[in-house]
Amino acid sequence: MNSHKLASDAVDQTPQQVLETAFDQHDAVAISFSGAEDVVLIDMACNLSDAIAVFCLDTGRLHPETYQFIEKVRDFYGIDIDVIFPEAESVASLVKEKGLFSFYEEGHAECCSIRKIEPLRKYLTEMDAWITGQRRDQSPTRSFVAQMQDDLAFSTAEKTMKKYNPLANWSSAQVWQYIRDNDVPYNKLHDRGFRSIGCEPCTRSTAPNQHEREGRWWWEEATRRECGLHVVVKDE
Ligand code: SF4
Repeated sequence: MNSHKLASDAVDQTPQQVLETAFDQHDAVAISFSGAEDVVLIDMACNLSDAIAVFCLDTGRLHPETYQFIEKVRDFYGIDIDVIFPEAESVASLVKEKGLFSFYEEGHAECCSIRKIEPLRKYLTEMDAWITGQRRDQSPTRSFVAQMQDDLAFSTAEKTMKKYNPLANWSSAQVWQYIRDNDVPYNKLHDRGFRSIGCEPCTRSTAPNQHEREGRWWWEEATRRECGLHVVVKDE
């Protein structure tokens, strides 16, 4: 991917304030849903608006429990969820040429690009902004995530994409406290030691003394454990 700069505006607001700003500022704004943090945001958003847009990326490689979780969230909140799929031809070409597990040999970049980034790029062309559950303490690659950012990775010459990360300042403990206090649905894999959940072949459970991101792409360096959805290039 090109080296796009991601401009950050330092702010310190509650997650609800960040969501309110996002909804006030943009008509075309959607919540990206995959993990526990995202459902916290959906829960908060449902208390602020009765017309939220939610999407998730179906890479075709998710756990059965994750598909059940998506359906549960849809039913629980009574919301539509845009399920975004990769281009069938691109997936077929990758699998034909390199097999179903090329990421273990060559790294995850190519597969994530086809199954996640390009579908997201296409979806975001219809959006002015998106909302994610990123937290600063999730990984070294997220240590300077801001609550509101210009996301130049998905901007074009015509439009600067805005990205809102309402939980940037929250810890994992705060997320789970909110889930317990508000009976928010969560992926049942969390009860089996999975803390950060992505695609099935690229996710494993972690021990209590391990960082949550150690369960993702564990065969690669920690600084490369991003799928490319959240590109950050620091100012020189
Ligand atoms: S997480 Fe793994 S299976 Fe999923 S898109 Fe990335 S490389 Fe492919």
